[in-house]
Amino acid sequence: MKVLITPRGYARYGAKAQKHLESLGLELDINDTGSPLSSDVFKAKAKEADAIIVGVDQIDADLIDACPHLKIIVKFGVGTDNIDVAYCQQKGIQVERCIGTNANAVAEYTIGMLFNCARMLSTNVSDVKKGEWKKPTGVELSNKMIGIIGFGHIGKLVANMANGIGMHVQVYDAFPIPSEALELCKAKQCTLSELLQTSDFITIHVPLTKETTGLIGMQELKTMKETAILVNASRGGIVKDKDALEALKHKEIKAYAADVFEDEPPTKEGWQQELLALDSFYLTAHIGSRSQESEINTVNRATDILYNFFSSLQ
Ligand code: NAD
Repeated sequence: MKVLITPRGYARYGAKAQKHLESLGLELDINDTGSPLSSDVFKAKAKEADAIIVGVDQIDADLIDACPHLKIIVKFGVGTDNIDVAYCQQKGIQVERCIGTNANAVAEYTIGMLFNCARMLSTNVSDVKKGEWKKPTGVELSNKMIGIIGFGHIGKLVANMANGIGMHVQVYDAFPIPSEALELCKAKQCTLSELLQTSDFITIHVPLTKETTGLIGMQELKTMKETAILVNASRGGIVKDKDALEALKHKEIKAYAADVFEDEPPTKEGWQQELLALDSFYLTAHIGSRSQESEINTVNRATDILYNFFSSLQ
């Protein structure tokens, strides 16, 4: 049986895990190029595979139809928006995720970005490097209200970290939240509209779905405080980036920090460059989950899922 493994983190941290899978007689094809595979190369390799551990590669209906042996897909992370899960179910292909393995990395990224935006740290570092000795006055996080949209693995960790900083926490989720989870995180549940109106800092931790696409557009941005700082380490497309540009230009909110973007990487011209040029906009290159610890946890979880799957077939 053949296993295609595309995430670069697996090549970096998977030497031991690899042996574990090989002990079952599996033949591994690991992407050790240091770059993502092109879609043609991915398709050619996937055609032969019985299992795929996948990062960002697109697994749509066409690709699935081209993979006659495929039995299981393991997402090297949690967001399955690059996989046509419904079509996989129809075809009897199991889809698994590495739930929670990168949550701490994303939560720490989020808190780091809150501090960064509140005190304009990265902007000041670039100014000083350019020879400009500027002294911006920022705001503190302590005693402020943070609104968390999506109270799952990452949302809960952000809530706990925010507690430690002395922030007040309110959360919105589309699904019922057990009262014990709210108590543990010292969080108050509210509606999306309340959260948008009353939070000083807002952070988004929902999956990209039909319901969350465009969840934050101009109307929602205008509802936020003019002093609000918004962080999005979820998925591109949940915040309407063009609306964020207009909102920042018209000072509807104070800052928007994103780890994800509708087009990754952004286009080299047009409104995306106008947005990037704003001091109130911060963009990182989808690195929220990129910590050594998170990659090692995810390698181990993905390996365990496949090991158990193939062991049960033997
Ligand atoms: P999770 O499944 O534990 O939590 C998601 C939460 O969102 C759940 O509580 C769910 O009920 C809620 N939700 C779903 N639809 C909603 C809606 N329409 N409105 C409000 N709430 C809704 O997932 P997680 O581990 O916390 O990760 C959240 C998302 O973060 C992932 O789906 C992924 O897209 C993104 N992510 C990004 C990075 C990165 O590198 N930037 C890394 C990991 C995860």
